[in-house]
Amino acid sequence: MKVIVIGCTHAGTFAVKEILKEHPDAQVTVYERNDNISFLSCGIALYLDGKVSDPQGLFYSNPKELSELGANVQMLHDVKSVDTTAKQIEVEDLDSKKVTTESYDKLVVTTGSRPVLPPIEGVDNKNVYFCKNWHDAQVLFEKARGKDQRITIVGSGYIGAELAEAYSNHGHAVNLVDTNDRVMSKYFDKKFTDEIEDSYKQHGVKLFLGQRVAKFAGDDELTITTDKGEIKSDMAILCVGFKPNTDLLKGQVDMLPNGAIKTNDYMQTSNPDVFGAGDSVAVHYNPTNTDAYIPLATNAVRQGILVGKNLEKPTVKYMGTQSSSGLELYGNAIVSTGLTMENAKRQGVKASEVIIEDNYRPEFMPTTTPVLMSLVYDPDTRRILGGALMSKYDISQSANTLSVCIQNRNTIDDLAMVDMLFQPNFDRPFNYLNILGQAAQAQADNQ
Ligand SMILES: Cc1cc2nc3c(=O)[nH]c(=O)nc-3n(C[C@H](O)[C@H](O)[C@H](O)COP(=O)(O)OP(=O)(O)OC[C@H]3O[C@@H](n4cnc5c(N)ncnc54)[C@H](O)[C@@H]3O)c2cc1C
Repeated sequence: MKVIVIGCTHAGTFAVKEILKEHPDAQVTVYERNDNISFLSCGIALYLDGKVSDPQGLFYSNPKELSELGANVQMLHDVKSVDTTAKQIEVEDLDSKKVTTESYDKLVVTTGSRPVLPPIEGVDNKNVYFCKNWHDAQVLFEKARGKDQRITIVGSGYIGAELAEAYSNHGHAVNLVDTNDRVMSKYFDKKFTDEIEDSYKQHGVKLFLGQRVAKFAGDDELTITTDKGEIKSDMAILCVGFKPNTDLLKGQVDMLPNGAIKTNDYMQTSNPDVFGAGDSVAVHYNPTNTDAYIPLATNAVRQGILVGKNLEKPTVKYMGTQSSSGLELYGNAIVSTGLTMENAKRQGVKASEVIIEDNYRPEFMPTTTPVLMSLVYDPDTRRILGGALMSKYDISQSANTLSVCIQNRNTIDDLAMVDMLFQPNFDRPFNYLNILGQAAQAQADNQ
């Protein structure tokens, strides 16, 4: 079986390894247009902040490892076209510029995503940057190294939020701009984002919320014109989202309107010999039981493995996702899974939300720390649909517990009483998540 894999960051790397494990006789050829594989973009902000001193640690594989496992790894090779009827691709060797045609039995499309390029005048200004891959990381690092820079981040999703924190920790003058009137509004409800905004202000980050960038201009100094005024800056970083890299398959397999490839539960596209995984494909979002575009490494690595397992016959089903994610800002762990109340409303999902704050362990202990928590649930079925937590204490794994609850369609009543360990070093007789479930029960019973 001749297998071609296009693109080799996370979905590609995991797919190649699993294909070679499950199908040792397969002839696997990998084409990657970049000069590296497996770069963890989630480490970019940590690298800029100095928390990761050796960026080489952000790679967990390399072409040599995949070659030793049996793959034919073609780096700096750009796949130019795919013909799914003839089962052929055209690929250019970016060094020699030679273009060849190759055939396959099975094609794996792990071409990922690229940053959205908004139609803003002057977006190609030399001082406007993106944050996606290893090359971007190096440029962003060099540009701000050892200098006091005025840095404007456009877009306050997870990536913009982390970059703003990282640069503000190093004496740069940071501006954070967003069309929404709250930071990270897609991921957290207002009670959380109010606190996050306060911590930005305390660290000197200037927030320009509820304003849209209309223009970038200037040579050495960048002038950023928004619909509410002007911001002077040395550089801007655009973090306004990602778009699936799927032009190669346009018109040949089913896609969502944004170009994300649709797959079945076995990562097979509408063409049975073409598989997809990672940022190039849509995911199944369990809280609403719908297809969605949620580009996360968590999905990419799981789906990559499933490609390997299902390449010859449907074997292991994709479980879908809650889009669980987290970040640390100024010492606060901030995590979420599933729907926020605002997203539920936007999507027409009937939901209620309870928000409480409680210390994670008893007050008789030498120290304890408050945890802000929210739980979103269906008031009719009492099913849990989402949750978020924020604390100086590391509550990140609690988002994972809530994720399992959503996956397994648990109710607020399950969460209120489910067995969780008690020991005063760690929590109270009821864990803070049990207490969150009990608060939801009290609210639901009085509605
Ligand atoms: C700054 C940042 C922080 C992030 N933090 C997190 C996090 O904390 N947690 C999390 O879960 N996710 C995070 N993500 C998202 C995560 O990085 C992506 O979901 C993940 O990279 C997707 O992997 P992928 O392999 O599907 O696609 P990509 O990483 O986009 O890789 C696709 C690969 O395909 C190659 N390619 C594309 N087209 C061709 C072609 N025609 N020919 C040859 N090669 C091609 C590209 O060069 C690329 O190497 C972050 C992303 C960024 C940018």
